[in-house]
Amino acid sequence: MGPIHILMIVLVSLAIGSFLNVVIHRLPRGESLAFPGSRCASCGRAIRFYDNVPLLSYAVLGGKCRFCGEKISARYPIVEGLTAFIVLALLAVYGLTVPFAAYATLAFFLIPISFIDWDTGFIPDKLVIPASIAGIFYLAAFHIVKWKVTWKSGLAGMVAGAGLLLLLMIAGKFLMKKDAMGMGDVKMLAMTGIYVGFPAVWIALFFGGVAACVYIMIALARKRLMLKNTIPFGPFIAIGTLTYLLAGDFLIQWYLGLIR
Ligand SMILES: [Zn+2]
Repeated sequence: MGPIHILMIVLVSLAIGSFLNVVIHRLPRGESLAFPGSRCASCGRAIRFYDNVPLLSYAVLGGKCRFCGEKISARYPIVEGLTAFIVLALLAVYGLTVPFAAYATLAFFLIPISFIDWDTGFIPDKLVIPASIAGIFYLAAFHIVKWKVTWKSGLAGMVAGAGLLLLLMIAGKFLMKKDAMGMGDVKMLAMTGIYVGFPAVWIALFFGGVAACVYIMIALARKRLMLKNTIPFGPFIAIGTLTYLLAGDFLIQWYLGLIR
């Protein structure tokens, strides 16, 4: 794989990231993902194709609409850049293999699910179901991912992911008398379990829980969050899953080294 291939993968990832922005913006509103083309969120004028180049256009336009001069959300280039970064990181770990394709596919769903959950507190079935079907396809066609995840492991991951989170949900409701998590989180972790298998799905959930605790402590300290608030857990499932996929082996070895 030469520099040209890597450049092509980056450009395709940026284009997919650009489409993910459309998904994040329109799916919760029930709007079509295909029509009409991109529009300025402020003045509604159609964005010209040369103003719709990932990352570059935002920089060239100085983060402002060409027509009305209204600020364009920094989230657009952030989602594009994040998508390309995650794909490159997966490529570095897995090479150009079936696992790379499977986990890049998973990432293309984790990213919009996270942002939509963050915005609305709602995890759309319209994303979780297609991602789960794609995961089962990878399982069936390639034994997933010959890397570590077999048929049985993938299905066990789905059941164990949903089961543990369901238990935590019930326990949370019993202890705190409120809903700390929802069925969306349960379905999302089942989806993740198909891709990462068992027991990895529990490790991914653990990493996600750690990330959520760190976030909560920082947010409480900066008074950006009150104890009574709930936070969306979907983004942390995504962070935990990607942490496992990119650095899981390293982190597990490091941890075992600490307790040995
Ligand atoms: Zn405008």
